[in-house]
Amino acid sequence: MEPVRVLRSEGVEPVVFYANSNIHPADEYAHRLDTLRAWAVEEGLEVVEGVYDPEAWEATAGRVGDAAEAAFGMIVNEEGDRAEGAEPTEARTAREARCRACYRLRFEEAARYAREHGFDALGTTLSVSPYQYTAIIREELERACEREGIRARFEDYRSFYNEATRRSREGGMYRQNYCGCRFSDAEADAERELRRAERRAVREAEAAAHANERAAEEAERARKRAEKQAYAAKQAKKRAALKALRERR
Ligand code: SF4
Repeated sequence: MEPVRVLRSEGVEPVVFYANSNIHPADEYAHRLDTLRAWAVEEGLEVVEGVYDPEAWEATAGRVGDAAEAAFGMIVNEEGDRAEGAEPTEARTAREARCRACYRLRFEEAARYAREHGFDALGTTLSVSPYQYTAIIREELERACEREGIRARFEDYRSFYNEATRRSREGGMYRQNYCGCRFSDAEADAERELRRAERRAVREAEAAAHANERAAEEAERARKRAEKQAYAAKQAKKRAALKALRERR
């Protein structure tokens, strides 16, 4: 949504090329495409569907992903793993390689289409997402465009992510909860579980801290009660002594 708004504000009329052989399963691919098309009609935007070729994806990114999984098991992103300058682990590098192969396949297809149909430039909406590898997206977009002799129009749209989220929610649009491929589906489930466990741990730590506070408050109340009782007993004793004195006189 946001790249289209931004491009139009810059006087560019884009055509959306839907190149998503990565999406698994086919129903999900169709659902996302239907969502895009319904919105594009409202916006008066042209959408071109690329070739849905999951076999080509499996032969490239899928193969890289299988090798990474065989070496490292499921690769779950920790908080901040994709942040610029994050320390790369071997597993993270392997996952990046899979995503790079995935971007490459889709950008090559899009750039080929753009060249064959006389477009000036190719950009991408992938750079809206803070969950993607932005630097690799840029490299692969530029590489694909160079091969086809067209201009790469890369823009980092991540600052528009919150606005895109707000607008799509407000419009009641379908919002996918995983990137697209079979790996990302399982990884997103695991990452959500990880986040839930982290939130649970924070809640439990807070509850434990509150329990300590409550226990300290209760101990203080008990101390004050005991102090009061001791004072009352002392006063009663005094009164009794005075009374005995008076009676003796
Ligand atoms: S996580 Fe996303 S970008 Fe990476 S391989 Fe899967 S579909 Fe492609």
